[in-house]
Amino acid sequence: MKQALKTILYIVLTLITIVVINIGFFIYKAKNGIPDYESRAPKLPTEMNDFSVLLFSKTNAFRHAGAIKAAIPAFQKIAEDNGWTLFSTANGAVFNAEQLAQFDVVIWNNCTGKVLRDEQRAAFKSYMEKGGGFVGVHGSGDGSHKWDWYEDELIGARFSHHSLQPQFQLADMYLECDSSSVFPCKHLAPKWTRSEEWYVFNNNPRDNGFTPVYTVDENTFNPSGNLGSLITDKDFGMGDDHPIVWYKELAGGGRSFYSALGHSGDAFAEEKVLELLKRGIEWAGQ
Ligand SMILES: [Zn+2]
Repeated sequence: MKQALKTILYIVLTLITIVVINIGFFIYKAKNGIPDYESRAPKLPTEMNDFSVLLFSKTNAFRHAGAIKAAIPAFQKIAEDNGWTLFSTANGAVFNAEQLAQFDVVIWNNCTGKVLRDEQRAAFKSYMEKGGGFVGVHGSGDGSHKWDWYEDELIGARFSHHSLQPQFQLADMYLECDSSSVFPCKHLAPKWTRSEEWYVFNNNPRDNGFTPVYTVDENTFNPSGNLGSLITDKDFGMGDDHPIVWYKELAGGGRSFYSALGHSGDAFAEEKVLELLKRGIEWAGQ
């Protein structure tokens, strides 16, 4: 009997250790990322249409597996419907001057962590500074990238946390659109209620020269990111002005569009999300 109890205790302790190690690894990876880089560039299609899009879906930190998987065919369908070439890859070596120059827009599909080597980063920065187009989706704006230019100049806001009480909540979004808007927003819904894991940023992207397409009304959801005794300092939102989708024309003619929507695969079956992304890509690639 004593031996049986010992065996059970051993098994329980082993299981607890495995769970703790896994949780620790998950938190470390989400915060810091695990480096994994490519050096051999992919082969691009021999024929590219007038409007060509690079869909980049690499993660070195938290992986939104369902969303990434659902977004790839959704972007492919948008490209097909509009006669664009879309090249989909998770190979960071495509970030070289020669290949980037062939694309009107580069989409970061829930990319997280440090996904590019320094020289690949430099090639992307130079592409944007020379007039390139960028579309960032959800996790591409989280705090795992560890790249000042990317976070401040291209995304425009530093990620703080996401809603956790609960994680997914219905909330009202409002279109920020007037006659002076350079974004094609008149085709978008003025008010839009949907469920999301809502991102909260430490600064308002307006302060970095970005213009919101949508804001989310914090009176309609709880933005707190506190989690029991594990996270205790994230009990705040962005107040009356909480941008959630925004854009900016960069110096040098580049264009950046970011949407914090898209945690779940379901998002990429929502017509309004697809319409918004299509408009974002078209605008960024002008
Ligand atoms: Zn997410």
